[in-house]
Amino acid sequence: MNQVFLYDTTLRDGTQREDISLSVDDKLAIAKRLADFGFHYIEGGWPGSNPKDAEFFARAAKLDLGQAKLAAFGRTRQKTLTCEQDTNLQALLDAKTPVVTMVGKSFDYHVKLVLAATLKENLAMISDSVAYMKLHGREVVFDAEHFFDGFLANRDYALATLKAASDAGADWLVLCETNGGKLPWEVEEIVREVKKHISTPLGVHCHNDSGCGVSNTLSAVRGGCTQIQGTINGYGERVGNANLTTIIPNLQLKMGKTVVMAAQLRELTALAHYVAEVVNLKHYNHAPYIGYSAFAHKGGIHVAAMMKAADTYQHIDPALVGNQMRSVVSELSGRGNILFHAKALGINLNNEDAQRVLNRIKHLEHEGFTFEAAEASVELMLHRLRADYVQPFELIDYFVITERRQSRGLLSEATVKVRVDGSVKFVAAEGNGPVNALAGALRSALEGVYPVLKTVRLTDYKVRILDSAKGTSAQIRVLITFQGGGLVWTTVGASTNIIDASWLALSDSLEYALLKLQPPAA
Ligand SMILES: [Zn+2]
Repeated sequence: MNQVFLYDTTLRDGTQREDISLSVDDKLAIAKRLADFGFHYIEGGWPGSNPKDAEFFARAAKLDLGQAKLAAFGRTRQKTLTCEQDTNLQALLDAKTPVVTMVGKSFDYHVKLVLAATLKENLAMISDSVAYMKLHGREVVFDAEHFFDGFLANRDYALATLKAASDAGADWLVLCETNGGKLPWEVEEIVREVKKHISTPLGVHCHNDSGCGVSNTLSAVRGGCTQIQGTINGYGERVGNANLTTIIPNLQLKMGKTVVMAAQLRELTALAHYVAEVVNLKHYNHAPYIGYSAFAHKGGIHVAAMMKAADTYQHIDPALVGNQMRSVVSELSGRGNILFHAKALGINLNNEDAQRVLNRIKHLEHEGFTFEAAEASVELMLHRLRADYVQPFELIDYFVITERRQSRGLLSEATVKVRVDGSVKFVAAEGNGPVNALAGALRSALEGVYPVLKTVRLTDYKVRILDSAKGTSAQIRVLITFQGGGLVWTTVGASTNIIDASWLALSDSLEYALLKLQPPAA
């Protein structure tokens, strides 16, 4: 069988990561998005452990998740209780999900030490719990905790725990690499051994503690597992769970497995960014397949070769996972990077102009600017070379004061003089700081003529003090990020003065907004 089933645990194991705390609404939104992508199983949480997860299941019942089945997670019954008496099992039933996933011990050391149970008692706990959930009509996934460590320590007992679950009717046996310390060949070999004794379909659940979460999962699939558990962007406790955004394309594009439809795979980059947005963590730019830099080319030689054929320096066509190729412009670039960049923007550039832009970039980077993260500044530079480009405004001068007065506290005031729409505007504004006041004044000078600027907002402002030993004449670099009209863009300014550096980045950002968002004049 070539199909591999996807089981997501971002909403349960993923939220074990420090810095992640999801509301019920966040979890519902992510579940819907995972279902749309093509996940087969979505683990929503542990209803017996907290009221938030119980509420999630109550509300998730009303969601249309298409082919995706919702799973509630819990553990096998306690040693001294029957399944009816065990509130954790009752909470699993109350979650009313089609799938119930129960974790149980498969490592004899843990049974004796942590559960303080006999090996026989643990087998009964597994068997009773699985049989009870089957009696109530659930699809049952048995998660065998510490399976790989258990198998190496006491192989017969680890296999007996799987047999107990399988004889009681479990639909899936998932081998958990709970401590995340195994290596790929160990995992593959153990899965192959298990397959000789067990006919119930196998899954795998890996953690990334040895940096092998992805490779261990792929090895388990080679060994015969047909369900893979993991999280979006590899979120999870400690160093994280196996990262599904890397595993999925590897299985489908490299190993010839069927995971989702090709059209769904093209949504992978968007899915990864969406989840990062909801959990409020910065997306990791260098993540395989879906990172912003995953197909970014900076070296001049690479870019020159790629203009001849894109596959010369790329392992796949980025469009297959919904990502795109970029050329990064910096002082390390050749003229080819500039030509490539211009072509992607639909600007016709001759070699001479490309060389001029390159020289200017090299000169400005020497002064302290950096263009790798400020692509909007590069794009503006290219547009300014166009014969038909009209500069939407021209800065004449600005003036900023900051005062702290005993009665009024801290106050900044800025005045700007700009030429816009054929006349000179002179506008003052107050702000809680000098850059804020300057931005306010510039925006109010421009918004009357360009109302579209009311729809953009500043979302990030970064200042870096540059190393004076590097011989740059500017000491301060400012990167400003704006958002509006469905776009996000970053511009750069550098100067000996923080306000001046901010001013340069700010005016570039507003000019860029007009270039992209201003409707063409009637
Ligand atoms: Zn886990």
